[in-house]
Amino acid sequence: MRSFIIKGTICYSLSPKELAVHPNGYAVCVDGVSMGVFAHIPGEYQHLPALDYGDHLVIPGLVDLHIHGPQYTFRGTGMDLELMDWLQKYAFPEESRFENPEYAAQAYEIFARQMKKSATTRAVVFGTRHATATEILMEKLEETGLVTYVGKVNMDQNAPEGLQEASAEASAEATVQWLEQTAERFERCKPILTPRFIPSCSRQLMEKLQEIRKAWNVPLQSHLSENPLEIQIVGEMFPQEPSYGHCYDRFGMMDEKTIMAHCVYSSPEEVQLIKQRGVFVAHCPASNTNIASGIAPIRRYLDGGLRVGLGSDVAGGQTESIFRAMTDAIQVSKLYWRLVDNSCKPLCFAESFYLATMGGGAFFGKVGSFLPGYAFDALVLDESAMPYWSPMDPVQRLERYAYLQTGGEGLLAKFVAGTKII
Ligand SMILES: [Zn+2]
Repeated sequence: MRSFIIKGTICYSLSPKELAVHPNGYAVCVDGVSMGVFAHIPGEYQHLPALDYGDHLVIPGLVDLHIHGPQYTFRGTGMDLELMDWLQKYAFPEESRFENPEYAAQAYEIFARQMKKSATTRAVVFGTRHATATEILMEKLEETGLVTYVGKVNMDQNAPEGLQEASAEASAEATVQWLEQTAERFERCKPILTPRFIPSCSRQLMEKLQEIRKAWNVPLQSHLSENPLEIQIVGEMFPQEPSYGHCYDRFGMMDEKTIMAHCVYSSPEEVQLIKQRGVFVAHCPASNTNIASGIAPIRRYLDGGLRVGLGSDVAGGQTESIFRAMTDAIQVSKLYWRLVDNSCKPLCFAESFYLATMGGGAFFGKVGSFLPGYAFDALVLDESAMPYWSPMDPVQRLERYAYLQTGGEGLLAKFVAGTKII
């Protein structure tokens, strides 16, 4: 059933600051695409089946621009270190286990099941450097009904023996084979090139990935300016480049099909490059707090016209909940304003909702709103676990739901491009 009508209290973003609210509205979906929201069902849609959700809140699905599938196993632990040590002590040893396809199948089954239950309808996901395990991750995510991009990670230096790829050639060859296996295999899950970050990739590997990207025309994800020590290492590797972002740019990796996670310490030159190239910034406030990276100045990026969405960044972030990422984004923006720069006004609720829906959704095309022409990704929220008595308007209810709801439960229904998956 990809053509139908949903009745409910419908909220969605029109722009970063503007929320549309339709109590007792009708959201019309035709062939998986939104036709808009109406106070009465227009004549031409009268024949469509209607799902009546009464006064329940109906919102667009949430988008996670940055999450590590293999790190889901140790989420909520190992928060005592900063990035470079955290990778060596926690992330790399766990990712090494994905060499074993059976281990990968079990771990990714749990991850995929949780993603299906979550409020996320679209996600951009890191795998590990192992092609077989990454293909298993893609199979599992395809089955969930979510729309995803998944990356086989490239890393040929500065990692433990077992996890580091043997050479730039070996890494590139494995990547091409993986693309051959997966580029056309799935309907909803597509490959994305994934150099882990500059410290993990030799120049030779970056050059090869640039060629692969040209040949295969695939999007790309990586990390940028997350932590001071990481940035120092990159500066020593490329002393002639004006910023970390310029190191990716010299290999043709900064454009409108690129997501860069974090951008906590981006210099004015780097911000300018991100903007010029149309790169998406994945803001991951929980991760930036947990591994003490810092606070990304999202107010400046939003006002400067950068393209920004949210990432859970499990397992730097402890939960896959993008509702949690929304409220974390507001909270850290308040700390930034109070403690770092009082010209950077805190994010308001409408802005964080925009980041979680339309902001990140734009990476997938027309996604993240119920405006006509947008993919029909929708959540019907269940507020029964958070009773209230005094009257609240729909936006207050939505704000409260975001702050109080932290797990995957609390959804009455979930639709991805018009297909009901919960
Ligand atoms: Zn990450």
